[in-house]
Amino acid sequence: RTLWVETTTHRYPIQIGSGLLQRLPSLLEEVGWTPERRLFVVTDTQVAPLYLKEAVTTLQQAGYTVGSVVFPAGESSKTLQTLEQMTGEALRQGLDRKSGILALGGGVVGDAAGFLAATFMRGIPFVQLPTTLLAHDSSVGGKVGVNHPLGKNMIGAFHQPDLVVFDVDTLKTLPSREIASGFAEVIKEALIWDETFVRWLEENRAGLMALDAARLVEAIAGGCRMKAEVVSQDEKESGLRAILNYGHTIGHALEAVAGYGQFTHGEAVAIGMVGEALLGERLGLTTNVSQRTQALIQSYGLPYQLPTTAEVDELLVAMRRDKKAAQGALTFVLPRGIGSVEIVKEVPEAAVRQVLTQLKGEGL
Ligand code: NAD
Ligand code: ZN
Repeated sequence: RTLWVETTTHRYPIQIGSGLLQRLPSLLEEVGWTPERRLFVVTDTQVAPLYLKEAVTTLQQAGYTVGSVVFPAGESSKTLQTLEQMTGEALRQGLDRKSGILALGGGVVGDAAGFLAATFMRGIPFVQLPTTLLAHDSSVGGKVGVNHPLGKNMIGAFHQPDLVVFDVDTLKTLPSREIASGFAEVIKEALIWDETFVRWLEENRAGLMALDAARLVEAIAGGCRMKAEVVSQDEKESGLRAILNYGHTIGHALEAVAGYGQFTHGEAVAIGMVGEALLGERLGLTTNVSQRTQALIQSYGLPYQLPTTAEVDELLVAMRRDKKAAQGALTFVLPRGIGSVEIVKEVPEAAVRQVLTQLKGEGL
């Protein structure tokens, strides 16, 4: 299945299907990459033993010169230090302006390798090879970057890939917790954009959780299409693109307070969506979104409550520090109904407080 992302400056394909890693050379050729381009595969210690050799061999057989770098798996690797190490390795392996980077892995690899591509010699092209369900989201749209100790994704750039290749076969080795986490972003995309897609996710849960390839392609394509549409209309997040942050104001705060790694990104966003649905109801924007949201999230094996140890004050501080909080006012993406959201600025702190307390399990 092929989808296209179009921005004012870029147009690139997203390929989704089975067995695509073996077809990498021809997919690269379709976007104008040839073996004269030296390649540098970036991946992590979890993905490398599973797919690096296969990818490198396939490319070498097509005549490419391929180098690689492997960094420790996990969010804690998404740092400037990793960027510096990768840059050193790229330089030692002789990469230049005409080279290309392949990001083989989940969102961490995609964000870090994409940022390497954005900054290496002021920017070289790259291709996203997502291997987690969640990375269908992070690999599309061109946001790349690393974390700072004071906040997630605080150092970054916009750098669109030349191509995204999602080989759904790679999901077979993904731990079930990561699968569920990826579904959180698919659920998010459905909830903000398309009630029909929400219903499809409700009806196809069993097949999707069993990793039925045809359904997976459809779910990923649905998520990517939605993301591509939004990004096409607002590449640099001056307005509309911010709706993709549904669930993320609470989600990011939760990740920041609990410490990176306590929750997966998707789990934090899942809890965030339930919270922001409750907030929408509390502010009178909608009446009946939180129950269906919670049921859907729960049915995909995702958490929907804050840990009882979560401190409401700490979460509020983290939210104000989030880069989406303009001048300390709390901005949220809130539901108007299933399949539709709006951006609400200056949400009263008292309402947020009440919802966070409610999210700890009291009154849900
Ligand atoms: P991740 O990259 O850390 O992957 C999760 C874990 O799964 C890792 O341990 C990884 O090594 C392992 N893994 C990856 N593929 C595997 C496979 N096929 N089989 C077995 N194990 C595999 O995390 P993620 O959930 O993919 O992505 C989260 C990151 O994405 C966060 O840093 C988040 O900020 C970022 N993100 C970015 C955007 C964006 O627009 N740029 C959007 C959403 C999320
Ligand atoms: Zn996200």
